[in-house]
Amino acid sequence: MFNPFELQKELTQAAMPSGYESRCGSTIAALAGPFCDELFVTPTGNLVCHKKGKGKKLMFCAHMDVIGFMVTYINEKGFVSFTTIGGHNAPALINTKVRFVNGTMGIIRPRRQAELMEKPASAVTVKDLYIDIGACSFEEASAMVKIGDLAMFATSPELIGDGCMMTPYADDLASCCVLLMAMEQIKKSDNDLYFVFTVQEEVGLKGAMTATAAIEPYMGIAIDLCYSGDDICSDMEMPVRLGQGPTIKIKDQSVICSPIAIDHMKKAAEAAGVKYQNEIITAGGTDTAAIMHTGKGAFAGCMSIPGRNIHSPCEIVSLRDMEEGARLLAACAETTL
Ligand SMILES: [Zn+2]
Repeated sequence: MFNPFELQKELTQAAMPSGYESRCGSTIAALAGPFCDELFVTPTGNLVCHKKGKGKKLMFCAHMDVIGFMVTYINEKGFVSFTTIGGHNAPALINTKVRFVNGTMGIIRPRRQAELMEKPASAVTVKDLYIDIGACSFEEASAMVKIGDLAMFATSPELIGDGCMMTPYADDLASCCVLLMAMEQIKKSDNDLYFVFTVQEEVGLKGAMTATAAIEPYMGIAIDLCYSGDDICSDMEMPVRLGQGPTIKIKDQSVICSPIAIDHMKKAAEAAGVKYQNEIITAGGTDTAAIMHTGKGAFAGCMSIPGRNIHSPCEIVSLRDMEEGARLLAACAETTL
């Protein structure tokens, strides 16, 4: 049986930023193959795993792209300027270790540190930062990285606390793991099931739009991370807690979930004895909005895994929430629409 921590380690090694997901897609395809009837990749790069059924189309979406960095310029001293892929908090990036796809390591450092210290944190942007890859000249750096090269957080998944893991890219690889775990558990379903590992969620829910247009599901359920109300950085009034079960989303900034999808998820959870939390977040969005509003639209819902430190190199999620999330999704799949 899949182990959530081992799966996260495997997917983290294959992780790639938005637009370059095929490496991760190949790893997931090899893991998902035994649990579906056909697999295909859409022109935008979504990996679609289809388990055929006679009933209505039920689509699950977890995004396999991650946030990252792309080289834009190398200066005469060998320092590397970059642009971000996906949402980053620029001041929090200072002293973050990164790894380029070719293995080159670097650290994000501020330019003109003394000047920068005078600025309020909110005024710091990635233009104030560069990556130090240990080079001493343009020539030396250019032999190590090129314009357009990609980098990602250089941390690795670790077990932490009471049944939690600290990892880069729990958003959203932990949800990809949960979806794989659910696929492994599904026994019998009348629904026509599509498990989609979407691309480019972090840059505007793009893969979910094309997947929804291609599949035309009756109902779609996204799986993503949501903020945990016990995050030390959070001042949100939010009852969601790490380790207290997956959440069923009611609303976020991008979507008001379909009451029909919420009802389906709650009934399935209750029948399977899965404890869930009700989620309303006032910031952020997920593939759910794209599923609901693309083409003719679909009844759209979302299950989230609570996470701390989201979009940092050290996101924290509970392995129990992942396991219970997989049970909830399997129950949703097995409950006839
Ligand atoms: Zn996400």
